Parts: sequence; C-alpha cells; structure tokens
Amino acid sequence: MEEILEDKSVEPGPLAPDLRLPKDPLPRGESPRRVLIIGGGFAGLECARRLANDRRFEVTIIDRTNHHLFQPLLYQVATASLAAPDIARSLRQILMKASNVTVLMDEITDLSPEIHSAKGKSGQAYAYDYLFLAAGVQTSFFGRPEWEAYTLGLKSLTEAQGIRRCVLSNLEKAELTECEEERSRLMTVVIAGGGPTGVELSGAFTDLVHRSLRDDFRRIDTSDLRVVLVEGSSRLLGAYSEKQSKYALKRLEALGVEIRTDTLVADVTEQCVHFADGSKLEAAAIIWAAGTEANPLTRQLGVPLADRAGRLTPEADLSLPGFPEVFVGGDLVSLKDSKGSFIPGVAPAAVQMGRHVAAVLKEERRLENTRFKEQKLELRPRFRYFDKGIMAIIGKNAAVVSSGKLRLTGFLAWLAWLFIHILFLVGFRNKLSVLLGWAFAYARNTPDTRIIVQKQE
Ligand SMILES: Cc1cc2nc3c(=O)[nH]c(=O)nc-3n(C[C@H](O)[C@H](O)[C@H](O)COP(=O)(O)OP(=O)(O)OC[C@H]3O[C@@H](n4cnc5c(N)ncnc54)[C@H](O)[C@@H]3O)c2cc1C
Repeated sequence: MEEILEDKSVEPGPLAPDLRLPKDPLPRGESPRRVLIIGGGFAGLECARRLANDRRFEVTIIDRTNHHLFQPLLYQVATASLAAPDIARSLRQILMKASNVTVLMDEITDLSPEIHSAKGKSGQAYAYDYLFLAAGVQTSFFGRPEWEAYTLGLKSLTEAQGIRRCVLSNLEKAELTECEEERSRLMTVVIAGGGPTGVELSGAFTDLVHRSLRDDFRRIDTSDLRVVLVEGSSRLLGAYSEKQSKYALKRLEALGVEIRTDTLVADVTEQCVHFADGSKLEAAAIIWAAGTEANPLTRQLGVPLADRAGRLTPEADLSLPGFPEVFVGGDLVSLKDSKGSFIPGVAPAAVQMGRHVAAVLKEERRLENTRFKEQKLELRPRFRYFDKGIMAIIGKNAAVVSSGKLRLTGFLAWLAWLFIHILFLVGFRNKLSVLLGWAFAYARNTPDTRIIVQKQE
C-alpha cells in the first residue's frame, strides 16, 4: 500500500516545492477530514486507494453494488465467454487493508452540497468535508424512456447477464419451435449503436454462434443467428480513423454481421425496431448501445450542466464552480484536454481523475499547516490528462488500436488489447482466471459460461 501513497503523477501547485510534509501527518488535536466518495468505479476506487491509510482522512466510499466492475470486459459476460466473478471484485476485499476507508453499499439519492450532506436509499445521511462524485453514466434513450422496457443495456453485470440469458434462451426456444416465422424472430439480434460496445458485442456474438455453440444444437444451425448492427452515422467506431472504421466494417461483415449505417431508429416496440425510413425489423433481442447520459445526481448540484446528457464541467482542479469541496470525475465529466479535445469516457481518464482528486486533497491538507494555508485554493494543482489511446476488439484475433500517432489493426492490435485488458483487471485471481479461461476458450472454442439461470419472478 505504501507505494500508492507516493503520488508522483500529479504536478504540485506552484509554491508546493518549498514545503515539506509535516512529520506527524495528523497534527495533535485535529480530526481527520471526512471524504465521501460516491461510486466505486474506476475514478472512485482510485481516489480511495490513493487516500488509503493516510490518517489525515476518514474516507467513506459508497456504491449501490458491492463490487468494482471492469466494464471493458462486460461484453464477454454478455456473450458467454467469461463468468461474472472474472470481471468484478468485492470493494470490501479490495480495500480491506485500508484502515481509514469504510465501504458501504447504498444508493445515493439526494445531494445537498449547501449543507455538505448526501442521503442514501437506506435513509442514512452522510456528512462530509469533501465530496467526490464519481457515479458514472447510464444508458440514454434520447428522450424515449419507454424504449428501456423493450431493450437490453450493457452497463452492469446484471445487464450483461440479462443479454446472455435472453440470447441463449432464444436459441433454446428456436430449437423447440416448429414455426419458421417465430424461429426467425428468435434468431435475430439487433444491436443499436456502432461504437466500441456495439462492435465488440456483434463480433463476439458471431464467435459464439459460429464456433462455440456450433455443435450444441440439432434442429437449428446456430450460425443462422442474424446479428444486425445499426448505426445512425455514416461509419462505425466514429472516434477512430476512417481507415480503422472501414477495417472494422469489413471484418464484421466477413464474420457475418449485417451492418446498417446511416440508419436511424425511430421507435422500439416489443420485439420490433422501427427505422426512420419506415421499415421495421422483428428481433427477440434488441440491445441498446447507442448513447449514455450522466448519472442523474449531477442535476442535484445546482451548477450549470455541460450538455443535454447532464455532464458537468469542473474547474481545472476538478472541483465544481462555487463548491471547492465538491469534486467530480470519470465519465460524468465533460472536460477538454490541453489540445482542446474532449477527454473520452474511458477507464484511464477516470483513473487519472480519481488519482488527481486524492492528490489535491493531500496537498491541501499539507498546506493547512503551513504559512500558505490562506492560498490553498489557488495552489491546487490542475488536472492534466495523459492520453493512452483507445482500442476495440472485433471478434476473435482482430482489434483496432489508436494511441497518439500509432494506428494498429488486426492481430497485433488484438494482442495489444489482450495484454492491456488483462494487465488492468483488478486483483490477481481475476487476472489469472481470465487468462486461463481465455486460453482454454481460445484453444477449444468451448466457453463453459453458457448455463442459463432463470430470472426470479
Ligand atoms: C460495455 C462497456 C465497454 C467499455 N470498454 C472500455 C474499454 O475497452 N476501454 C476503456 O478504457 N473504457 C471502456 N469503457 C468505459 C469505462 O468502463 C468507463 O470510462 C469507466 O468505467 C468510467 O469510470 P467511472 O468511475 O466514471 O464510472 P463507473 O466505472 O461506471 O463507476 C460508477 C460507479 O458508481 C456507482 N453508482 C452509480 N450511481 C450510484 C448511486 N446513486 N449511488 C451509489 N453508487 C452509484 C455504480 O454502481 C458504479 O460502480 C467501457 C464501458 C462499457 C459500459
């Protein structure tokens, strides 16, 4: 734990180099500052880890689930390649050695920044000296909340398991039915949204039905599963170069995915997608990966929102305008980097923000016991985003990577993707089990995560 207390990644404020950390980090008679972190995702967890065992802080991290989730591999749970415990780990377990950190499972429903308090669904109120709001984003239906009832999202483990259950159950029903029309509906998956989530999911579905499940069924041919990827703009993977977009399109088409670009969804009803051109497509599985919006808690802070998706634009130190004790980070932030580009909603950005907030709090605490205490707000370090790039996997053996001037496609990109994703999985057990699981599935094409556990009625 020692090395994470030494934060070298954040530049100190302009006067900070003169200062020495006081010998006793918590001066006698002073009480620790209460830090409330909402969200145990990439940003919140990183902040808690950085403040771990620092006696100047009493940290409470609250999440509505009991685990930290590695979202980049959710699509593998949805397509029966990995099991849920491979990509999630209990927050308590991760933070068990951090004696100043309390983990609570509660859903924050109310924020009252004027009185430094938050309230949970449990009815508990949480008072704080500093708040770090890192509650992420949720699926957005562009003002059509009724579509939620007919679609499946991919933001949580429950949702990933819901997709897997739905698609596997549909294949079972297709094996049973005698009706051609019904079978065709049961064997159609529509994925709305041609970003990384849609591309990764559609590629993985083709792997599942062409390779893994190929020999499992007798009456149906699983490779008849129709995967339709729908994108409103003219190309897939809009954040990547045009060449990489074309590569993704060709690769997915070769895998059997039906791609419809320039296609807008006008309506979604039960098991049916209606398009803006008047056509419609019946599908027993409709996956919505077309948009996100900030956690609704951002709307309770009384500050102007950055966009219609409810994101917040903080000050350079990541605190909120008018609320220097409230920080925001991760996907719910809308901020530009030093080159003027928007910082993408990716895990490394969230981690860097969590790390930055912890560094600001430590710096501030240090200044409080010096002659610079009056200037502590002006001396706060600015957040600087270090862009590590973006990557998306396209079925087995292929990916696209875009990092600085580097553009990789194909097998090399896939290897880079594999290495990085395993490296960043939280916890050794997960890394090892994911690696072994993948190696086995890769060699044998037989994922053992295809058991359907029925939803409790
Ligand atoms: C399917 C998918 C694939 C992705 N692939 C990649 C990828 O390949 N590479 C990459 O870098 N990024 C990827 N991302 C994006 C990446 O996961 C996010 O950028 C990152 O998770 C953002 O971190 P965060 O801390 O802001 O939010 P999150 O990690 O979403 O954490 C937010 C946390 O807040 C909790 N929470 C929410 N509301 C409340 C509440 N009211 N009370 C208490 N707790 C609450 C949630 O339970 C959650 O644990 C992917 C995302 C998805 C969904």
